[in-house]
Amino acid sequence: MDTLVVGGGVIGLAAAHALAERGVSVTLVEKGSLGNGSTARSAGGIRSQFSSRVNVELSRISKGVWNTFEEQFGVDIELRQNGYLFLARNEDVAEQFRENVDMQRELGAKSELLTPAEATEHCPGLDPGPFVAATYNPTDGIADPNLAVQGYAEAARELGVDIRTKTAVTDLHREDDRVVAADVQAVNAETSEHLEVDYVVNAAGAWAPTVGAMAGIDLPIVPRRRQIAVVDPTPPVPELVPLTIDLERGSYFRPERDGAALVGGYFDGNDDPDQDPDAYDEGMDVEWAAQAVENASEYTEYFGLDTRIKRGWAGLYAVTPDHHPIVEETVPGLVTVAGFSGHGFQHAPASGQIVADLVVDGDTDLLDISPLSGDRFEHGETVTERSVA
Ligand SMILES: Cc1cc2nc3c(=O)[nH]c(=O)nc-3n(C[C@H](O)[C@H](O)[C@H](O)COP(=O)(O)OP(=O)(O)OC[C@H]3O[C@@H](n4cnc5c(N)ncnc54)[C@H](O)[C@@H]3O)c2cc1C
Repeated sequence: MDTLVVGGGVIGLAAAHALAERGVSVTLVEKGSLGNGSTARSAGGIRSQFSSRVNVELSRISKGVWNTFEEQFGVDIELRQNGYLFLARNEDVAEQFRENVDMQRELGAKSELLTPAEATEHCPGLDPGPFVAATYNPTDGIADPNLAVQGYAEAARELGVDIRTKTAVTDLHREDDRVVAADVQAVNAETSEHLEVDYVVNAAGAWAPTVGAMAGIDLPIVPRRRQIAVVDPTPPVPELVPLTIDLERGSYFRPERDGAALVGGYFDGNDDPDQDPDAYDEGMDVEWAAQAVENASEYTEYFGLDTRIKRGWAGLYAVTPDHHPIVEETVPGLVTVAGFSGHGFQHAPASGQIVADLVVDGDTDLLDISPLSGDRFEHGETVTERSVA
C-alpha cells in the first residue's frame, strides 16, 4: 500500500513513522525543511489538563510515548516533568476547573485541585491574591519539539520512509470519489512528478486547507499568529516551576534553562481574519512582548523591572471552531490530521497511531475519534476545548 504524507512537522512525521511500522510504504513531502512550520515554533508543552475527554485521552496515549521516547527512538527529547499550573480568577472558571479535574482523574490523570495558597508550593513566586482556584498535574511538562522531529524522522527513515524536503504537493487527483494520485514538485525542479497512491495524509498544519482544497475539500481551519518571548527574568524563574497559566488573562510562562524563561499568551484580541499562512511576520512584536512580561509580572514576583527581553518569534496555530483537530478519512483515500489549535505538538504520538489505524484498518480502537470528525460542525455536535492558552 502506497501512502503520501503531506507535511514534515511533528504530526506528519509521527504519522509516517506509525504507518511504516505497520508495513505501509510511505513517501513524505515537506515544502520547506522538517519542523519549519509550527512545530519548531511551539513552546513544547505536554499536559493532561484539558477540558474535553478526547483531548485528555489523546494526552494519555501520547504521554506514554513521550515518557519512553528515548528508549523507543534513541533521542533524548529533554522531557522535563515540571507540571502545568492553571489559575482561575473567578468562580465560574473555578467550577469549570473542578469539573475538569474530576473528568481528568476519571480518565487516569493525576490532576489535582488546589487552593491558590497551595499553588505557591509549586510556583513559589506566585501571588495567590488574584486567584480563587488552581489545578496542577505533576506529570505534565515540556520537551524539545526539534528533538522530537529528529527522533521521528530518523526512525521513519530507518523503516524505509522516503522523506523529501523542499518538495511540495501541488495537486491531488480524484477518480470517482477517491483520491488516487498527487503531483509533487521539488523546489528547483522544472516539472512536477505524478505519484499514484492508495492514500494521502493531509498533515499540513496551518496549510491543511490549501492541501484539502486540492481535492475539493473545505476544511474549517484558520491560521492564527501566536508569539513567544525569551526573557531573562528578575528574579530568575526556578527550573522546577511548572508551566503556569493565568487562564482568563491569556498569559503563561515557563522556566527555560539557565534562569531564562519563555513568556507567551494571547491577550490583545487582534487576530487578522485574513491571515495568509505564507505571508505572516515570523518575528516577535516588541510591544506584545512588553505586555506579555507585564501581564506575567502582575501575578508573580518574577519579571520585575530589570527583566530583559532577549528574543522571540511568532508561529501559527491551526485553529478549528471548537479547538479540536480534525482526524478522519475525509473522503476515500484522503486522511486529514490537522487543526490542532495550539496543542498539536503534544498530541502527535497518538495522532500518528490513529492515522496508521485509519489507513491500515479503516478505523481505530485506540479511542473514540467521533468528536474529531470534520462534519461535527455541520451537525452542531461540538464540545469546545476551554483550557486554551
Ligand atoms: C507560539 C506557539 C506555541 C505553541 N505551543 C505549543 C505547546 O506548548 N504544546 C503543543 O502541544 N503545541 C503547541 N503549539 C502548537 C504546535 O506547534 C502545533 O499544533 C504542531 O506543531 C502542529 O504540527 P503539524 O505537524 O500539524 O504542523 P506543522 O509543524 O506546521 O507542519 C506542517 C508542515 O506542512 C508543510 N506543508 C504545508 N503545505 C505543504 C505542501 N503543499 N506540500 C508539502 N508540505 C507542506 C509546512 O511547511 C509545515 O512544515 C504551539 C504553536 C505556536 C505557534
